[in-house]
Amino acid sequence: MPDYVIPTPPVADIPVAGGGRFPVRRVYCIGRNYAAHAIEMGHDPDREPPFFFQKNPDNLDASGDFPYPEKTSDVHHEVELLVALKSGGTNIPVANALDHVWGYGLSLDMTRRDLQGEAKKLGRPWEIGKAFERSGPVGPLHPVSEVGHLDQGRIELKVNGTVKQEGDLNQMIWKVPEMISYLSDYFELAAGDVIMSGTPSGVGPIRRGDKMEASVEGLGVLLVKVV
Ligand code: MN
Repeated sequence: MPDYVIPTPPVADIPVAGGGRFPVRRVYCIGRNYAAHAIEMGHDPDREPPFFFQKNPDNLDASGDFPYPEKTSDVHHEVELLVALKSGGTNIPVANALDHVWGYGLSLDMTRRDLQGEAKKLGRPWEIGKAFERSGPVGPLHPVSEVGHLDQGRIELKVNGTVKQEGDLNQMIWKVPEMISYLSDYFELAAGDVIMSGTPSGVGPIRRGDKMEASVEGLGVLLVKVV
């Protein structure tokens, strides 16, 4: 054991359906990856190069509760397919990219939209809007060996029983293998990296007491209560 001078921080992880835990190294998130969402945010849905931001591994939270964060009055839900990598590398060809995927899960890229909007306007980084405490509610991961690779299927988010977001995974502008390949040209990917693969249209605000129900066909339902 190295001679750490403070107690070692816990390893961030995500539960696995059926048992075990998936340790998380990095969290990459793609912006505007569904055309209808790009349009609702005021952007051209043409296939411009993808862009990514990061959340912190310890922002992920499988507790089922989302505490309404500080310093904001406009927190939005973004339902996303989470892709979990078992290996990585650099310059990964699109054709081999799926070999690095361990499994898939449900996630919410919760966003302090007011703070993100201000950061965008000022040309500042997005962390203040995106990478806050417990900003990434997640459900259990499902291994590829059980659910296969997900390139189509309904993705949906309900708030208090009403459908707010809906789309199909086949509407992603940048597909999962393309995202992995692109990221690997700029960063060294590794086991434990996860990718939030973007949100369909219909993002909107939530309030304390709301019940969010995220689902992707084949992955069940993730229930998260705003507290
Ligand atoms: Mn997002």
